[in-house]
Amino acid sequence: VTRLLMMGPPGSGKGTQAGILADRFGIPAISTGDIFRANVRDGTRLGKEAERYMKAGDYVPDEVTNGMVRDRLDQPDVADGFVLDGYPRTLAQVEYLDDVLADQQVKLDRVVELAVDVEEVVARLLARAAAEGRDDDDESVIRRRQHLYASETKPLIRVYADRGLLSSVNGQGTVDDVAGRIAAALGAPG
Ligand code: ADP
Repeated sequence: VTRLLMMGPPGSGKGTQAGILADRFGIPAISTGDIFRANVRDGTRLGKEAERYMKAGDYVPDEVTNGMVRDRLDQPDVADGFVLDGYPRTLAQVEYLDDVLADQQVKLDRVVELAVDVEEVVARLLARAAAEGRDDDDESVIRRRQHLYASETKPLIRVYADRGLLSSVNGQGTVDDVAGRIAAALGAPG
């Protein structure tokens, strides 16, 4: 059983690396962004609620996000572990996740931070916008998401470092380069 969090700014490659880890460990990758996008696509109530925040590059309110994550972590496929991508992003979410895991009497094994240069990720996201046309990939919204990450989410890395759970990995380079560094970091303690 392996329980992992992926942290890093928008565009850092968290989702890609979460997928690689999920395959390797045979556990689900859970992306809050993907769950929100699926709900927007399906026109659910949750999707309608989340959509305006996502379009603006703002965080969906904790009350909405937290309940959704609890429901997902209560599913049976998560019993063998999970890779969470894009959650938690606020201190309230960290505390909520602590409660969910405590209720399940389980613990996180490791938090992987992908460290990347902001200008590099903005360039990547602009390229993705051109290729895929995601709604929240225009330049002002991209900058807004980077700013929110720096102010709201980056400080959480310290919280996990203080718990002895953090592995910080250089996120620059090819997908394979980064996957190799993560594998090495997970193999080694600390
Ligand atoms: P990115 O990290 O590249 O912005 P994601 O796909 O992870 O993209 O998330 C897309 C959007 O979904 C975010 O900008 C935000 O509006 C919403 N979202 C995802 N995860 C969370 C979360 N943990 N808390 C609040 N909002 C979230």
